[in-house]
Amino acid sequence: MTIAVSAAFDSGNIDVLRIAGPGAIELAIRKDAHSEFYQWFHFRLTGARGQACAIRITNCGGSAYPGGWTDYRAVVSDDRQSWTRAPTSYEDGVLTIRVTPRGDSLWIAYFAPYSMERHHDLIARIGQREGVTTDVLGTSIEGQPIDRVRLGTGPRIVWLYGRQHPGESMAEWWMEGALEALTSGDDLSVALRKACSFHIVPNMNPDGSCRGHLRTNAVGTNLNREWAAPSAERSPEVLCTLAAMDATGVDFAMDVHGDEALPHNFIAGFEGIPSITDRQMGLLTEYKETLARLSPDFQTRIGYPASAPGKANLTMSTNQLAERFGSLATTLEMPFKDVAENPDAQAGWSPERSKVLARDCLRALLEVVERLR
Ligand SMILES: [Zn+2]
Repeated sequence: MTIAVSAAFDSGNIDVLRIAGPGAIELAIRKDAHSEFYQWFHFRLTGARGQACAIRITNCGGSAYPGGWTDYRAVVSDDRQSWTRAPTSYEDGVLTIRVTPRGDSLWIAYFAPYSMERHHDLIARIGQREGVTTDVLGTSIEGQPIDRVRLGTGPRIVWLYGRQHPGESMAEWWMEGALEALTSGDDLSVALRKACSFHIVPNMNPDGSCRGHLRTNAVGTNLNREWAAPSAERSPEVLCTLAAMDATGVDFAMDVHGDEALPHNFIAGFEGIPSITDRQMGLLTEYKETLARLSPDFQTRIGYPASAPGKANLTMSTNQLAERFGSLATTLEMPFKDVAENPDAQAGWSPERSKVLARDCLRALLEVVERLR
């Protein structure tokens, strides 16, 4: 049987440079369309059952975050259900993944993928639960729906949205965890749905997700640089979401991401917005400290440097929403690698852990909810 590599499927990304036997598989990651960004990969290796393979991705030195490859391990699956980590090394710009497939096919990715089919399954499954409605805020460049899930009857308006950067698939695993937690019927879900009205956009960038992009939509726009002036031509995904937010107001927002380099979960805030208040900053600190108390996977020591006073980038959603609504707006970053404080040798950071963290984020929200306005 011939060894072959394919990425011609939902969220696939790889180019084959050369395959000259199991020890000489050379690949390259494709750039996002109309963009220089690349880092996400997802492909299927076939015809190598029982053979020790060395897969070399040769263009990692020029990727968006070369610091993401040090201490990184690729994820692999032979059933596309459970994903484990494979021995991976990085040297001189080349990422080498070593696998010995048990069967005829093995799927290999940057992180456990979250397909658009799974997204539709999620909307269908959650949409049938009691008190849940789903609607479409608008459409992407390529005509895919920007789905919103609504639930809860309380006065505080909470927006949760993720995957502006489509290669950060842990963001949609987090969304799945949040939606399951909010529809479980347990004490937490009952209390939160009484206190808040939730607006949840599990996938802000369906085109980039389908195309196997890291960071941009179908026309090469980084959606998280569009929130000051979104447009129908460059960023209809943001334009329709921000219009819906203007219609509801926002008391609490969480924008969910993954970080390529840092082996930690952390929250980036909105320091540096022009109208910042002590109340807002106090709530941000309280929220982060509460989450660190509730979750062994979350910490407040390491994260992005805060912007200087007045220097916040208002094209980023968290800054824009904090400025626009005076709200508690947060950017949650999860690792592609693992959590240094609480590592898992087999799985690293994973879909399951992303879902648990989502529930912990909601537990922390309940603790501060009375003070949101
Ligand atoms: Zn991101």
